[in-house]
Amino acid sequence: MSDLVLVINAGSSSIKFSLFETAGAADPQVLFKGQMEGLYVEPKFTAKDAADQKVADEVLPADVPKNHDHALRHMLAWLEQRLGGREIKVVGHRVVHGGTQYSKPELVTPALIAGLEALIPLAPLHEPHNIAPIKILQDILPNAAQVTCFDTAFHTTQPELNQLFALPYEFAQKEGIRRYGFHGLSYEYIASVLPQIDTRAAEGRTVVAHLGNGSSMSALLGCECQATTMGFTALEGLPMGTRCGSIDGGVLLHLMNHLKMDAKQIETLLYKESGLLGLSGGISSDMRALQASDEPLAKFAIDYFARRIVRETASLAAAIGGLDCLVFTAGIGENDALTRALVCHQLRWLGVEIDEAANAVRSGEPRRISLADSKVAVYVIPTNEELMIARQALATI
Ligand code: ADP
Repeated sequence: MSDLVLVINAGSSSIKFSLFETAGAADPQVLFKGQMEGLYVEPKFTAKDAADQKVADEVLPADVPKNHDHALRHMLAWLEQRLGGREIKVVGHRVVHGGTQYSKPELVTPALIAGLEALIPLAPLHEPHNIAPIKILQDILPNAAQVTCFDTAFHTTQPELNQLFALPYEFAQKEGIRRYGFHGLSYEYIASVLPQIDTRAAEGRTVVAHLGNGSSMSALLGCECQATTMGFTALEGLPMGTRCGSIDGGVLLHLMNHLKMDAKQIETLLYKESGLLGLSGGISSDMRALQASDEPLAKFAIDYFARRIVRETASLAAAIGGLDCLVFTAGIGENDALTRALVCHQLRWLGVEIDEAANAVRSGEPRRISLADSKVAVYVIPTNEELMIARQALATI
């Protein structure tokens, strides 16, 4: 008998869901996926079926509550109408922060919820929105087992040498100020499929570039994380759609002391106005729009992004003693041949030889884009964080 697994990815203004059906020993299959966007403003519910056809597209009436609680109840009621009495037995939640405590998925218990609440100071913008749906679903689906899947867990294998900031040691020990790393569920998915794609890469030294609106990179040795570009928060490392990436801490002091900016203004600048959007002079945070623009600053932003990926690749390769494989994934990594080419051309000295024809192919399948004799094998591998959560939730119960 197959089971239904609900995957929830909740943020401050949206809740994404995927409903999977288990299929014997094979990977769970998607039945429906969708989201409620615009919470607290004008919630809009959209969903697609297994064939990727739109099956829901509605703005919620103005007189209903616009909060997470109502959004989840609406979503579950919509699903219930389509399940013919079948029960959702398992729920997997994406949780952004697991601190140093949680290095694997966890079954939800009162102690776990208390543990997650203790981590709120480390991720105040995200963790509360990840915890709230767990509590709401305890009420809506009292018989379902809930599992939390952490974005930081994959990075707990990093040696301290790569995790710590060079602050006094007690800041890491007592205050938890260290590089946790994020996008872990995406890296775990890539690590789970790499052995079938390239054994040498799976056993050896691989750098994975997760390039989306949020971007990060990780160095894997035998599919275990050794170093990653994101840090204490998801602000460090590569520039992103609107986030600045790594920045000299002295700039922040200057913004405060000289330009008299307060914490809220600096947060807005670093998270919402920087990255591709800021570098392009406000043209766009979206790679497709930058590619379509003739403005010199749009090209500058793309070149800057690629250069930072190149520099981080070399730094990560140094942390694992060389490079056997480079993997591109997420929205830009999977779809943008230009960024991949810009990066690979600048990494020739490291043994990367891109196959231009293979790089130009558009496909949703994993594929090799380096020449047969390239010292470093380069792949495009579509990521699937929702499937990773469904797998982890099932394995945990
Ligand atoms: P998120 O971090 O929000 O999950 P995604 O992984 O969906 O983001 O990536 C979004 C980015 O991918 C955007 O910059 C978008 O422009 C880019 N992208 C999506 N499709 C293409 C494409 N065909 N060509 C170039 N860039 C693309």
